[in-house]
Amino acid sequence: MFKKILIANRGEIALRIQRACREMGIKSVVVYSEADRDAKYVKLADEAVCIGPAPSAQSYLNMPAIISAAEVTDAEAIHPGYGFLSENADFAERVEKSGFAFIGPSPESIRLMGDKVSAKNAMIKAGVPCVPGSEGALPEDPKEIIKIARAVGYPVIIKAAGGGGGRGMRVVHTEAALIHAVQTTRAEAGAAFGNPSVYMEKFLENPRHVEIQVLADQHRNAVYLGERDCSMQRRHQKIIEEAPAPGIPRRIIERIGARCADACKKIGYRGAGTFEFLYENGEFYFIEMNTRVQVEHPVTELVTGIDIVQMQIRVAAGEKLPFAQRHITMKGHAIECRINAEDPYKFTPSPGRITMWHAPGGPGVRVDSHVYTNYFVPPNYDSMIGKIIVHGDTREQALARMSIALSETLVEGILTNIPLHRELVVDAKFVEGGTSIHYLEGWMSQHKR
Ligand code: ADP
Repeated sequence: MFKKILIANRGEIALRIQRACREMGIKSVVVYSEADRDAKYVKLADEAVCIGPAPSAQSYLNMPAIISAAEVTDAEAIHPGYGFLSENADFAERVEKSGFAFIGPSPESIRLMGDKVSAKNAMIKAGVPCVPGSEGALPEDPKEIIKIARAVGYPVIIKAAGGGGGRGMRVVHTEAALIHAVQTTRAEAGAAFGNPSVYMEKFLENPRHVEIQVLADQHRNAVYLGERDCSMQRRHQKIIEEAPAPGIPRRIIERIGARCADACKKIGYRGAGTFEFLYENGEFYFIEMNTRVQVEHPVTELVTGIDIVQMQIRVAAGEKLPFAQRHITMKGHAIECRINAEDPYKFTPSPGRITMWHAPGGPGVRVDSHVYTNYFVPPNYDSMIGKIIVHGDTREQALARMSIALSETLVEGILTNIPLHRELVVDAKFVEGGTSIHYLEGWMSQHKR
């Protein structure tokens, strides 16, 4: 096992990885930007290295600075967390070439899954069901594009092969709007992702977002850890996640989960990963794979009892998975609310000093957050300041625990989305379970303030 790991990230996930290292008796090095000097995990760190000024491009995306920090501290492995460089194949390659272990999949797997066209092709080959659409990238010829759209059937969605974070997508309802939409998406994708290649999918009108968590080692063992329902989203950003997904029969989950684990073996995947699907009318349709730990991994940890971050570290060190599929069971129900420093109804960021922070507690309540009273939320990064995760024997109990936890949470000095969460967890449709990815936006337009 590694003796020392460098954590190439910030915020709550840096603290989460640090905790996993501590429990495993591994020393950890944190890197931080000047804006994060006062973060909790920096104060708690065995070693901390400042890697640059606040802008991410000069700090958390600065590959040479991160690799030098690993060299000077004698770290053996680098954990990239989520976001930043976590899905950058060039970074994984540079980490390995510099003699460190990358806690994640191989650069080849990251590259394969990072291009959505090659990812989809690999999934089709591995027998994972995908959204019907173009076979690979769209051709140049407008006549050909029109033909493909007719075969797929309107509405369609044009998506950038290199897209991510909900960007680089356009829905098209009529043939008249098609070619212009393809051209605009191509131009935007070229500018934003350096890759103008786009593809087409059938636009599903009312799906849920249901994803499968997988874990694979370097010895061709792979398992799935059940599913998560992440349909509560605004502008493709998840805000509430839960496991299991309400109302989906276990045999359907088992079938798709087994396909995902099998696909991992077929593509030689190692580490933790997530297969994201749209789920509509009892069918799963693959949209993309995330080759890293997800923000919402704690809900899976609470229902399976498996520490996903520790497993990432173990398999990166070459260990075999300590369990087989038959040993994995899901117990009870877990829900996560992402707490963001933002205006709850306008969604504008609200950085600044937290003058009072009181986290909730009690049975079945977990809080993953790096903030504290008097902490300054820097304006430079993502607005998430923490996550409240609850576990109950039933979904009803988990919902009740979440309601109580949210009511106990006290944050002063900045605005947060806690008031929105408090309304959503008692909303009749959400309580019923199974709302679609469009539910929150519809709800917001009906609850205008
Ligand atoms: P990103 O990498 O940008 O997150 P995804 O491919 O995961 O892109 O899609 C993000 C979101 O866009 C999905 O969660 C869903 O809300 C919507 N979406 C993507 N593809 C489709 C589709 N074929 N039909 C309907 N909605 C879609």
